[in-house]
Amino acid sequence: MRIIIDQNLCCGSAKCIEICPENAISLVDGKAVLDEAKCDLDGICIPACPKGAIDYEDDYAGVGCGFYREG
Ligand code: SF4
Repeated sequence: MRIIIDQNLCCGSAKCIEICPENAISLVDGKAVLDEAKCDLDGICIPACPKGAIDYEDDYAGVGCGFYREG
């Protein structure tokens, strides 16, 4: 299990950075990048993202990279 941040959907709002208690996310070239070593998988960042760019890998819809799975 891991968290995925879709670089194609990320708008650089930094909402996830503000809310992450582990300081596991940083902005690189205007896109949110996750440090998996710091992430504790609590998922707080998922609903915080205004673009829906963050999800658990198992639930990842991948709408930004040409792959979409409903449900
Ligand atoms: S799942 Fe939790 S610890 Fe991991 S990046 Fe999101 S808010 Fe931070």
